[in-house]
Amino acid sequence: MFVSAGDLEKYAFCPLSWWLSRRHKIVEKQGIKHHKKVEKELSTIKEKEKKVRFYEKYILFFALAASIVAMVGVAFLYGKLEIFWEYFLVIIALLWLLNATFFLYRVSRVESILRARYEKLLLVSSMGAIIISTFLIISSNPPDEKWSRFAEILALIWVITANMLFYRYVVLSDEILSKKVKYVPLRGEIEYVGSNRKGEEITSEKYGIRGTPDYVIKIDDDYIPVEEKSADIKQPLFHHVIQITAYCMLVEDRYGVPPPYGIIKYKNAQFKIPYEKRWKDMVLEMREKMLRDMERGGAHRNHNNIKKCRRCSYREKCPESMAS
Ligand code: SF4
Repeated sequence: MFVSAGDLEKYAFCPLSWWLSRRHKIVEKQGIKHHKKVEKELSTIKEKEKKVRFYEKYILFFALAASIVAMVGVAFLYGKLEIFWEYFLVIIALLWLLNATFFLYRVSRVESILRARYEKLLLVSSMGAIIISTFLIISSNPPDEKWSRFAEILALIWVITANMLFYRYVVLSDEILSKKVKYVPLRGEIEYVGSNRKGEEITSEKYGIRGTPDYVIKIDDDYIPVEEKSADIKQPLFHHVIQITAYCMLVEDRYGVPPPYGIIKYKNAQFKIPYEKRWKDMVLEMREKMLRDMERGGAHRNHNNIKKCRRCSYREKCPESMAS
């Protein structure tokens, strides 16, 4: 049976508050508002990042296409080359081709993390070979001003298009950066945004828990869950540590690597909670206790901390409350 990370948090605060929350729905408006705001901002960032990737692709396409067409235009104007230059360009084109073949071979061999770098080199090398070969083929014909002009105009239009896309790319990238620094370190990415939408919840068969962390960031090869709290607190609270540990367990199961830590962000401070065995054992122990309490049909206060009762949302309905 799956137990939610949110229920584990309540249980860690006080088992009775978790039990009462099953019967009485108390909506904490401030918390919900804060989570909705975070979710909206992060979803917007993700959307804009998608657009930036789209622009990136088309800027490259138009810039390359414009370069090729411009070269074609020059080739039309130039006419027949001297024999030395013909040989010289054939050798250069072959070298580019050789380069491209080498990078093609490397792409199939390297780890996926390095693949993108080799793919870029492969693209540049093959484009170089194509441009030089095209130049050679066209320049073997007599000069043709009409075609040359047409090619240069087309190249100009594509360069303008690439520049317009580049302008949008820069504006969007700036917008993303200014918003993103609030949530993610510079070298990090937003990997997952938790929401109440269907299918967003993460479940772990291995640990028997489920939940939706506010978001998960990716730093290098690590996936780190982050939980935002609207409260103003100087030290991480025990029940929040239990909740973020449960999220670390979910992230570990989902991505196949244990996160080094989880982050709890309060209004005024944030804390990195190391993902340690002692916390993990406590989560699993608490899960067992919850299941036993469910079977028994009730739970009780397990503390003598009056401050807890004073700030508990269920104190009005609680038969064991210490706060009058
Ligand atoms: S009022 Fe106190 S005893 Fe009752 S549920 Fe809240 S924390 Fe637990």
